[in-house]
Amino acid sequence: MTEASSAVTMDKIVSLCKRRGFVFPGSEIYGGLANAWDYGPMGVELKRNVKEAWWREVVRTRDDVVGLDAAILMNPSVWEASGHLSGFTDPLVECKECKHRFRSDHVESGKCPDCGGELGESRQFNLMLKTFLGAVEDTASTVFMRPETAQGMFVNFLNIQTATRKKLPFGIAQIGKSFRNEITPGNFIFRTREFEQMEMEFFAKPPEHLQPGERNDDEWHEYWVNLRFEWYLRHGIRKENLRLRVHETAELAHYAKATTDIEYLFPWGWGEMEGIANRTDFDLKKHSEHSGTRLTYFDEQSPAEEKHYHPYVIEPAVGVDRLALMFLLDAYTEEEVGGDSAGAGKGETRVVLKFHPSIAPVQVALLPLSRNEKLTPLSREVYASLIATGRWNVEYDDAQSIGRRYRRFDEVGTPFCVTVDFDSLEDNQVTIRDRDTLVQDRVAIADLASILGERLG
Ligand code: ATP
Repeated sequence: MTEASSAVTMDKIVSLCKRRGFVFPGSEIYGGLANAWDYGPMGVELKRNVKEAWWREVVRTRDDVVGLDAAILMNPSVWEASGHLSGFTDPLVECKECKHRFRSDHVESGKCPDCGGELGESRQFNLMLKTFLGAVEDTASTVFMRPETAQGMFVNFLNIQTATRKKLPFGIAQIGKSFRNEITPGNFIFRTREFEQMEMEFFAKPPEHLQPGERNDDEWHEYWVNLRFEWYLRHGIRKENLRLRVHETAELAHYAKATTDIEYLFPWGWGEMEGIANRTDFDLKKHSEHSGTRLTYFDEQSPAEEKHYHPYVIEPAVGVDRLALMFLLDAYTEEEVGGDSAGAGKGETRVVLKFHPSIAPVQVALLPLSRNEKLTPLSREVYASLIATGRWNVEYDDAQSIGRRYRRFDEVGTPFCVTVDFDSLEDNQVTIRDRDTLVQDRVAIADLASILGERLG
């Protein structure tokens, strides 16, 4: 495995997340629940921005993708048709001595990673979480917590096509919770049993139905791989920490013809961020067979004899929590600084999250120099004027010394702090402090919103 070169470690991220209100251990006062995490005020803003950045690019700014919010609990037949009941498994081994369980494909040595003991036979373990519907806990009312959001899009294919009259190619996107009874969850929010996914099923014409000049499924696959890869770069992720990995035939999921992963260089090595799969017509065909409803598309212009067919599907699928972790790790920086503007004493280390402005939980902090009551009315007024633009998440903070407040906003990755001081009362100007360069400049209050607008992009 390759080591990440930056000073960031998981311990530092976990501790910053707790200290600053990004992520707390779930049910902490009861001793927690293994690998369950709660997102605090900064964490929800971060996740919200990540979801908005995705939705904007994949749905809002395109005329060929629409949204869906399907139920988490689905008719169990869905999972039979999709192949999840029989095939959504990971290989599991148990240590004969300490009884700890591992994913066979994650154990490199053949010995127990915890105690070095001998491992038993590998068996397939289904990852779907079960629950019961209704008052009687018998098998008739067993339902599954969805392990992916994708099936919601497939079973609604006809509903959406009929309601929107979309022509191929078009996509259906969804953001929502998924659940997997992972054998070895871990690495903080990288792998959990409850997580949020963002998936888009892009329905395209099968090769035999294409007209001259139209993209085929392989070309749409490549198109989405490139578009998704660029999204990471455009939101500030360092290129050297990203790579594409094409799946070998042997590791392809049961429904996929080809898959390319976008991987990130985590502190423990390269890990999957996002998978972009060519699912062919597998899912729509299976649901047509099992449900008796033909999930086909009618294409008058198809050169083939049969004008009704099951479209192919290209699917970019990514986890919100995993993206949040990546943005935190990539933004984490420690710098030697001195002086008040940094909020740290001379020779001290400043921790700063250099988030892209679109991802930062708070874009602007409004800070009166002190709690002196003479500063409050003007500070509140400037704050209200920034809030009124509706463009940014602005936080007002007058607790503690200005140095400590700068330190706090560096640690949550706020690009700009705006300070109101006694001179402001006379000259109607405020100071803008740049998180990354630490440069401070004075601007007229009247120009503040437009200057911030330019700098935040
Ligand atoms: P892995 O091989 O890591 O188990 P996968 O290939 O099974 O992942 P997919 O089914 O392709 O994952 O899911 C799409 C995306 O959903 C993943 O790329 C990841 O970002 C996210 N994801 C999947 N499982 C989890 C999990 N247990 N916790 C957090 N995010 C997850």
